[in-house]
Amino acid sequence: MAGLNLVLVTGRSLSQGEGLDIGKTTKDYFEGVAIIELDGEDLEALGVVEGGKVKVETEYGSIVVRAIKSRRKHKGIAFMPMGPWASLVIDPNTYGSGMPTLKGIKARILPTDEKIPGIKEILERIYNIRVKEIPKETLSEGESVSTASRVIDNVACSFCGCLCDDLEVEVRNNRVVKVRKACSLGSSKLLHSRENRILNPYVRENGVLVRVDLRSAVKKAAEILANAKYPLLYGWSNTSVEAIRVGVELAEYIGGVFDNTSVICHGPTIQAVQEAGFVTSTLGKVKNYADLIIYWGCNPLNAHPRHLARYSAFAKGIYAKSRRDRKIVVIDVRETDTAKVADLFIKVKPNSDYELATALRMAIRGYDIESGKVAGVNVEKIRELAEMMVSAKFGVIFYGLGLTMTQGKGRNIEELIRLAQDLNEWTKFVAIPMRGHYNVVGANQVSTWTTGYAFSVDFRRGYPRYNPGVTSATDLLNNGDVDAALIVASDPVAHMPAKAVENLVKIPVVTLDPKWSLTAVASTVVIPVAMTGVEVGGTAYRMDKVPIRLKKLVEPPPGILSDEDVLRMILEEVKKLR
Ligand code: SF4
Repeated sequence: MAGLNLVLVTGRSLSQGEGLDIGKTTKDYFEGVAIIELDGEDLEALGVVEGGKVKVETEYGSIVVRAIKSRRKHKGIAFMPMGPWASLVIDPNTYGSGMPTLKGIKARILPTDEKIPGIKEILERIYNIRVKEIPKETLSEGESVSTASRVIDNVACSFCGCLCDDLEVEVRNNRVVKVRKACSLGSSKLLHSRENRILNPYVRENGVLVRVDLRSAVKKAAEILANAKYPLLYGWSNTSVEAIRVGVELAEYIGGVFDNTSVICHGPTIQAVQEAGFVTSTLGKVKNYADLIIYWGCNPLNAHPRHLARYSAFAKGIYAKSRRDRKIVVIDVRETDTAKVADLFIKVKPNSDYELATALRMAIRGYDIESGKVAGVNVEKIRELAEMMVSAKFGVIFYGLGLTMTQGKGRNIEELIRLAQDLNEWTKFVAIPMRGHYNVVGANQVSTWTTGYAFSVDFRRGYPRYNPGVTSATDLLNNGDVDAALIVASDPVAHMPAKAVENLVKIPVVTLDPKWSLTAVASTVVIPVAMTGVEVGGTAYRMDKVPIRLKKLVEPPPGILSDEDVLRMILEEVKKLR
C-alpha cells in the first residue's frame, strides 16, 4: 500500500481546546482530536479523500485517525492535536530533559480501511482499563442553590496562560448563561462548567468504581499515599496557588516527588533560564511599547486566541497604538493561522531552531554566514530579520512548544535567550514563553518559593532535590519507578506518552478533578472538587508572572469542596497514619 514519509508535529487546536470541557468521551472531542491535518498535495499523493482514514506509524506506535485537508500549506508536515490518539505515536524519551518529544517526529502515513478506535477502545484495548462502569451523573441531582440573575465583571478566565481578566459573565439560577469578551476556549470552559461532572467520591473495589462518602475516599487516598515508598504528586497547573502550596507540604511529608505539567510544556525553558538567565517584561509593557513582535514555534490564534488583540499584535498600547505601529514575524515549521497575519513568515526546517537562532546572533553582529541557507532559511531572509530586530525600538519574542518539544529542547531556548540578550546591546528586547494552562506558572512559582526548584522536586531523602530526566514525572512513569500517584488538576492518561500511561495505570492512583477525565476513569480513588475560577476563588499567575485573582462565580455542587480543602483533609489523615 502506498504511503508517505512525513514529519509529525502535535499541538493544541481550537476544537481540541473547546472539547476539553465538554468531555473526552463525547463525539465532539473524538471528531476534533482523532484526526491528522495534511497538506492538500500530501493528501492527494496518498490517494485519500478528505475525511478518509489513514494509519500513522512512528517508531513508537501506530494509530488510525481521520485525515483532514489543512487550510494552510505545509507539504511534508503532518499535524495531530494533542490527546489520546497523538499520545500513542509520540516519542516518550526525554533525553535527560524531562520533556518527551512531541514534535518533529518521523512518521509514515498510509491509507487504511481499519477502524478509528474510540476513547473507550483505547482505554480498554491499549491500556487495559475497564471503562464500562463510568458513572453517569447529572448536576441537577441534589442541587438546591439558586441565585438571582446578575452580571459579574472583570472576571479572570481560567483556561490559558493569558488569564484575561476583563470577562463579563452572566449568572442565572447558579449557572453561567452568557460570557462576554472571552474567546471560544474561555467561553466553552465557563458555559460547559456543569457538564461531565463528578458529583460523588469513588473507590475502586474488585475492579469497579464504587460510590463512597468523602471521609472514606479521603481515608483510602491517605492510606495509598502513606503506604507508598515513592509516590508521585503530579498536575497542579489548573488549580490555585493556595491548593498547590498544600500539595508541596503533602509531598514533603510523605517523601514523594512533586511535579507539575511543565514536564510536557516549558520545563526546558526553566532549564534554559537556569543556564542563561531571563530577559523579560510584563505583557502590559509589550502592549504599550513593542513595535516588533516575533512568534516563534507558537500559534496563539489557536492556543491563546485573545493574546494578539489584548497584549500583542493588535493591542492598543500607549506608544504602539495599533497594528500599523508594529511589525509582526512568525517563525514556524508550517504556515499557521498566526502566520497569515504576519509581515514576515519564516519557515524553519523541523528540529533546526537552534541553528536559526545561532545564525541570527551571527547576523546581528555582522559575521559572515558561509552557507547560503541555515535551517532551511535563505541567508538573505535571516539578514532581513536581523535588520528588523536591531532597528526595533522594543522587540519581543514569544516562543512556544515548537521549541521546547523538538530536538535541542532547553538548548533551543538558551540560544534564543542569548539572542535577546545580544539584542539589548542595540535596543530593548525580551523573550517570553507562551504558557498553556492558566496556572502552570503558579505551579512553578509555588514550587520555587517553597523548595528552590520550579518542577520535578524529589523529597525522597527528606530534603528537596531536582534532577530533570530522572526525577521528572515523565521519566519516573516511563521507567515504572513510582508506586503510587496523586493527580490533581491534570489528565496524564490523555496527554502523557503511551509508555508512561501504561505504567501509571498499573499503580494505585488518587485523582482530584471536577470532571471525568481519562485519568479519573482509571483511578483507584476519585474525589470530586470544585472548579477553581468558577466555583471557588484563588490566585493564579499569568504567563508573565503577574498574579491575578480568580473569582467565585457560582456555588459548587452540594458537598463538593475545593482542591485546597480536600488536600488538607488528605494531609491531616496521612499525619495520623505516619
Ligand atoms: S485567550 Fe486564554 S485566557 Fe483569554 S479568554 Fe481565551 S482562553 Fe481565556
